[in-house]
Amino acid sequence: MSREDYEIVIGLEVHAELSTKTKIFCSCPTEFGAEPNTHTCPVCMAMPGALPVLNEKVVEYAVKAGLATNCEIARNSKSDRKNYFYPDLPKSYQISQFDMPLCEKGYVEIEDKNGEKKKIGITRIHIEEDAGKLNHNEFSGGSLVDLNRAGVPLIETVSEPDIRSSKEAENYLRKLKSIFEYIEVSDCKMQEGSFRADVNVSVRKKGTKEFGTRTEMKNMSSFRSIVRAIEYEADRQIDVIEEGGKIEQETLRWDDVSGKTFSMRDKEDAQDYRYFPDPDLVAIRLSDEYIENIKNNLPELPESRKARYMSELGLSEKDSNLLTASKHLSNMFEEASAICGNHKLVANWLLSDISRILNEKEIEADQIPFTAEQLAKMITLIEKGTISSAIAKKVVEELFENPKDPEEIIKEKGWIQISDEGAIKEVVLKIIQANPQSVADFKAGKDKAVGFLVGQAMKETKGKANPQMLNKMFIEELKK
Ligand code: ADP
Ligand code: ZN
Ligand code: MG
Repeated sequence: MSREDYEIVIGLEVHAELSTKTKIFCSCPTEFGAEPNTHTCPVCMAMPGALPVLNEKVVEYAVKAGLATNCEIARNSKSDRKNYFYPDLPKSYQISQFDMPLCEKGYVEIEDKNGEKKKIGITRIHIEEDAGKLNHNEFSGGSLVDLNRAGVPLIETVSEPDIRSSKEAENYLRKLKSIFEYIEVSDCKMQEGSFRADVNVSVRKKGTKEFGTRTEMKNMSSFRSIVRAIEYEADRQIDVIEEGGKIEQETLRWDDVSGKTFSMRDKEDAQDYRYFPDPDLVAIRLSDEYIENIKNNLPELPESRKARYMSELGLSEKDSNLLTASKHLSNMFEEASAICGNHKLVANWLLSDISRILNEKEIEADQIPFTAEQLAKMITLIEKGTISSAIAKKVVEELFENPKDPEEIIKEKGWIQISDEGAIKEVVLKIIQANPQSVADFKAGKDKAVGFLVGQAMKETKGKANPQMLNKMFIEELKK
């Protein structure tokens, strides 16, 4: 049998750090990047006798996430202790939720590989605390513990094993990320680990009902690695099965450099954790009014923004999809359009050159270093004819490297478009002189020759000449 005879089955567990100001059970700040162990107190350092108190905002954010992903919200819920030892977990247990999560039975809609709409089931969303961080090798090979992250609130979103390819997994993750960004429960900065996924993969022969044994790759935080890891792992499992072997249920580590997975440990079971209700915390009871109130105050979701772009702005479905896929991109689009008043041009630049550079740099829209104002300014310069689109391309590159007012950029670089008749004429005459063949072609009826000459003139002026003026003047001169 070949690879085509198998189907990949994927289920994802996503951890998103909530953007509450304070931690889940104490009032320490959640801010990223502080000096080690400065955002700590007796509660999140697990001093004896220190007691947790649940941050109400955490419940609110989790309910928001549940409502935005079509979940049922539990009126009764509770906190449980998940027991395990690790040096970044000072209590030796994590406060999580076991059998009574806040949200259950939801779904998000994605596009499958044929571009058809497909629902991916969400089993549950529960709240829990993050662990600290180990910094390895900073002092003579040892490890140091930083507890700033200990107690930062997380929501864990567990999907049903409904995902059937690496592309669908990426689409699902992008969708979930964009929903969390829109409802402002998490900043979802993957590079800071605030949106990360445990990836469960199995394979089965097509047409089989039962799932195969899965393996799990933990804590992955880049779309590219997740896609590569799924492809590699599915191939590896198929090879094992084809050779008559059996897949072990285990936790694997993905190594981005070698592009392979390595065995880490046997998969642990729920019973290994000895879950039990945390006696230090009261049960969570939510009233219908409380939930209704959150529902009525949910911000606009990507789907409705997309619909608005299509109906109000006349953008295509594809463009609307791309623009709304990330809240940052979509916000930048709206802000820049509001400033310069030309949403078509803003959309074009965001979806062409700017998206291309994001891809090349392998960064996400939230890492765009320039502001909507700066983008709008550039659009205005194009509209006024101060710069050509050839120069605007260079301005965009520069905005990524050295973000500042585009007007300053073009002044500094001397990139102002040449729109002076005399100067244009000078270039046109020079190019005509140097290209007698093209002149002859034009006279013989080959209109295309003008395009070539304009290209030469652009080269001569390093892209600074106004292309419309060039075009017009070449024709005038050639017809003389
Ligand atoms: P755990 O926390 O032990 O990893 P769960 O039973 O909650 O446990 O499952 C975790 C994830 O694994 C879920 O997203 C689920 O969809 C996925 N999953 C379960 N069985 C399979 C399978 N056979 N193949 C792929 N994914 C699976
Ligand atoms: Zn604290
Ligand atoms: Mg798991």
